[in-house]
Amino acid sequence: MDGETALRARAGQIARDDLGYAKLRPAQAEAAAALAAGQDCLVILPSGAGKSAIYQIAAIALGTPAVVVSPLLALQRDQADALRARGLTAVTVNALSGRRARDEAAALLSSGETGFVFLAPEQLAREDVRAILARSGVRLFVVDEAHCIASWGHDFRPDYLRLGSVIDAFGERPAVAALTATAAPPVRQEIADRLGLRDPRQVIRDFDRPEIHLAVRQFHRAGDKQQAVLDTVREQPGSGLVYAATRNEAESYAALLKVRAYHGGLSRADRARAQEDFERGGTIVATSAFGMGIDRGDVRFVVHAAVPGALDEYYQEIGRSGRDGKPAVAICCYRSEDLGLRRYFASSLPDHDDLVAVARAVDQPLGRRELATRTGLSPGHLAGLLNLLEAAGAVRLRRQVEPAGDSDPQEAASRAEQIAGQHRSVERSRVEMMRRYAEMTDCRRRFLLRYFGEPVSGACGACDNCDAGRSQPLVPTGLVSPGERVTHHEWGAGLVLDAEADRLTVLFDDYGYRELATPIVSDRHLLTLQ
Ligand SMILES: [Zn+2]
Repeated sequence: MDGETALRARAGQIARDDLGYAKLRPAQAEAAAALAAGQDCLVILPSGAGKSAIYQIAAIALGTPAVVVSPLLALQRDQADALRARGLTAVTVNALSGRRARDEAAALLSSGETGFVFLAPEQLAREDVRAILARSGVRLFVVDEAHCIASWGHDFRPDYLRLGSVIDAFGERPAVAALTATAAPPVRQEIADRLGLRDPRQVIRDFDRPEIHLAVRQFHRAGDKQQAVLDTVREQPGSGLVYAATRNEAESYAALLKVRAYHGGLSRADRARAQEDFERGGTIVATSAFGMGIDRGDVRFVVHAAVPGALDEYYQEIGRSGRDGKPAVAICCYRSEDLGLRRYFASSLPDHDDLVAVARAVDQPLGRRELATRTGLSPGHLAGLLNLLEAAGAVRLRRQVEPAGDSDPQEAASRAEQIAGQHRSVERSRVEMMRRYAEMTDCRRRFLLRYFGEPVSGACGACDNCDAGRSQPLVPTGLVSPGERVTHHEWGAGLVLDAEADRLTVLFDDYGYRELATPIVSDRHLLTLQ
C-alpha cells in the first residue's frame, strides 16, 4: 500500500471509529488524506457534502490542534458541540466569548494535543490572538467559506484579507485547507493567491446537480410576478424555500403564503424559531441572509421572487434543494427591472475628496472612532473607504488604522478610485451574466456549469429550455475553446468560459465578464491566445 492509499484507509477508519460517520465519500477521503500528509488543499464541494468531516479527520490523523476560521457562529457552535459529544476537545472563540473560552483555546493551542479551536474571522485582528497562533503547534489551519476572501466575490468579508498574513506568521507553517461550496475559476485563483496556498491539492466535485430542474418565468408587470410566485409555491407538492429581495418583501410573501419569514431584521429568537420550523419540514420565505449552514435534505423547491445579483449566489441558493438526491425544482420568477435595481446598488463610486480626506487623516496609527471624528464620516462609509485605501496600499488595517508607505493622499485616492471602478465593472458584469441566464433560450444548466468552469458540451434535458426543444447543440468556433487564457488589447488577460458560433463569453481579470461577437473577434483578431 502506498502512502496515499494508507492515509485514505486511515481516514476511513477515523471517520468510523472516532467521528461516527457511516461512510466517507471519495472526495472527503482524498482531501483528508492530502491534509494529513501536510499538503494544502482547496476543497470545493456543494453544501451538505460533508466538508467539515474533512478537517475533523485530518486533525485527528495529525494528532495536533486545528484552527478553523468561519464566519458562521451558529454553525461553529453546533460543530463544536458535536465534537465534544464525541469526547473531543473543541472551543469556540468569537466576539461574544468570555475570558474563559480564550484561555481554554490558548491552553489547547500550546498543549499541542488533538483538538479544535473555532475562530470568528474578526478575532484575527487581535494582536494577542495572532501572537498565540504564531507560537502554537497548530499543524492544520482551516478556512471555511473560503470564497469570502475574494474581494470581487459576492460575499466578501474584509476580515478574511488578514488570513494570508496570519498563515505566514506561524513558526512552522501548518497545512492549509480552504473550503467552499461555490467558486468560479477566478475566485479559486484568488483564494489560492490570497491564502498563499502551496501547490494545493484541488478537490472539486459534484458541481452538477442533475436532480434540480431549472426554470425561469419571465414577467413584465410586478403584480403578475407576485401572483406567479404565490401560485408556483402553492402548486408545489413538497415544501421549500422562497427567496425575496428585501425584508419587507419577505414579510409580505410570508403573510400571503401563511408561512414564516426569515431575515436579518428579526430578533435572534424569531430567526431561531423560523429556522427550526424550516428544519422540521416547513416552507420559509427568506432574504439571502438565510441559508449558510442549513442541513436539510428534502427541500423540494427553491423559488426566487427576485433574482440575486450574481449567478454564484443563485447557484448556492438553489443548491439547497434536493440534497437527498430526489427530484427538486429551481424556479426563478424574473422581471428585467429587478436586475436594474441590482445594477443601481452595484454602481456607487466613492467620492474623491472623501478618499483624500481619509488618506490625509491617517498620518499616524489611529482608532477608527478617532478617524470618524477627524473626517466627519460615518463608520459604515469610512469602513468602505478604508478597504479601498488598503487595497491601494495607502493604509494598513490592524486594530488601529496605520499609514503604509509614504504615498501622497491625492495619488492614493486616485489609485483607490481606480480599484473601485474595476470592482464596479466586475459587479456589473456579474449582474449581466445573471440577466443572460434569466433571458436565455438555450440550455440553462450548460451555461451555469460553464460559468463555473466545467467544460460540459451537451444540453441537459432538465431545464425549461431543453423541455421546450429550444436548446441548441454547441458548434466549436475554431477560434478559442473554454478554459483557454486569452488577451484582449483593451481589457487585458482573461479566461474563455463559453465559445459559441455567434458569441464568446470571456472573464477578464480586471474587468469581469464580457460577451463578444464571435465573427467580429475573428475578423478583427481581437483575442490572442496566451
Ligand atoms: Zn438544459
